[in-house]
Amino acid sequence: MKYIDEFQDPELARRLLDDIHATATRPWALMEVCGGQTHTIIRHGIDQLLPDTVELIHGPGCPVCVTPLEVIDKALEIAARPDVIFCSFGDMLRVPGTDRDLFRVRSEGGDVRVVYSPLDALKIARQNPDREVVFFGIGFETTAPPNAMTVYQARKHRIPNFSLLVSHVRVPPAIEAIMTSPSCRVQAFLAAGHVCSVMGMDEYPALAERFRVPIVVTGFEPLDLLEGIRRTVRQLERGEHTVDNAYPRAVRAGGNPAARAMLDDVFEVTDRAWRGIGTIPDSGWRLSARYRDFDAEHRFSVENIATREPAACRSGEVLQGQIKPHQCEAFGTTCTPRTPLGATMVSSEGACAAYYLYRRLGVTPTKLEASPVA
Ligand code: SF4
Repeated sequence: MKYIDEFQDPELARRLLDDIHATATRPWALMEVCGGQTHTIIRHGIDQLLPDTVELIHGPGCPVCVTPLEVIDKALEIAARPDVIFCSFGDMLRVPGTDRDLFRVRSEGGDVRVVYSPLDALKIARQNPDREVVFFGIGFETTAPPNAMTVYQARKHRIPNFSLLVSHVRVPPAIEAIMTSPSCRVQAFLAAGHVCSVMGMDEYPALAERFRVPIVVTGFEPLDLLEGIRRTVRQLERGEHTVDNAYPRAVRAGGNPAARAMLDDVFEVTDRAWRGIGTIPDSGWRLSARYRDFDAEHRFSVENIATREPAACRSGEVLQGQIKPHQCEAFGTTCTPRTPLGATMVSSEGACAAYYLYRRLGVTPTKLEASPVA
C-alpha cells in the first residue's frame, strides 16, 4: 500500500538500526510526544531493538488521555440533559468520569451519538432545530482546525442550536512544562509529525535553544520512527540541539496556512488543565469572544463540578514518562481495556492500552521492579 509498505521495509529498518547502534555510545533518553508514535513503537517492538543505552520515554500526546476529568464530568452532565443530542468521536464514550461514562449516560436514556466528523454534528443540528446539539471537541493541533471550521460554519449559517464543548491543547507549552519539571530526564524530543503538518515548526527552535535539546519532527510508520531516532541520537552524540524535519513528506516549515488562519479566527490561547499533569499556562485554546455563543460550557453553565480520580490509577505518572504502564499495580488486573480505570487504558493512543495490547504477556505486574523508571 502506497506510503505504508515502503515505510515498513525490514531491510531498511535493519540498516537504520545498525546506524543507531553504531552511533550511540552513551545513555540517552528520548521522548516521543505522540501516543500514535507510542503505539507504533510498542506494536513493532522498536524500543526493544534499540541499543540498551537508548531509552524511549512515552510522552503526554494522547488527546483522550489528557482531557481533564472535570471536562469529562461536564460532558456527562450536558449529555444527560433531555433537550441535548451529545455528539462525540467513539473513543470518548468509554473514558471514565468520576461516577460513569458516556456509554452509561446513553444506557440511562441520554441521546449520545458517535460521529465521524464535527460536520456530522452540525448536520444533526440542522435536522433537529428544536434540540441542542453539542460536539465534544478535544485534542491537539490536529483536531482543532476541523472543530474551528465547524463553529465558523455554525456562525456563518446561523445554526444557533449547535455548540462545542472545547478542550483543545497545544504541544509546545507541554514540552516546556516537561523540561522545567524537577524530575525531567528527557534529553531530546521526537516531535509529532501530524501536529507540525498543521502548525509548522516555528515554535520549536526557541525551545531547542532554551533547553538545549534536539527536536526531530517524526512520522508514524516504523521507518519514520527509526529515522527520527537515528537523527536524534546523532545530534545528541555530537552535542547539537537543532530542530530537524524527518517527516518532509507531510511537514512544511510554515505548516498549513489555511488551517492556522482558521484557528486564529475561531480560538484564542488560554491556560489548560491536563489530566494527570495539572494546569499548563497557555497550553490550550478556547473559543474567542466572537464565537463565545457557541461555547457549550458558556451555554449550559456547568460549574462546581466535584471530581474524584481513582486512587489506584497512576496515569499522571505514565503521561509524564515517570513510570511505564506495567509499573502500575492495576495494569492488566483491575485495569484492562474492558474495565479501564484511567483514560490511558481506554484510548487507542494511550500508553497503557499499547502495553496491554502488545506486551502484557511479557510484562505482567508480578514481574515489576519495585521503583519507578530510574
Ligand atoms: S494501567 Fe490503568 S490504572 Fe494503571 S495507570 Fe494505566 S490507566 Fe491508570
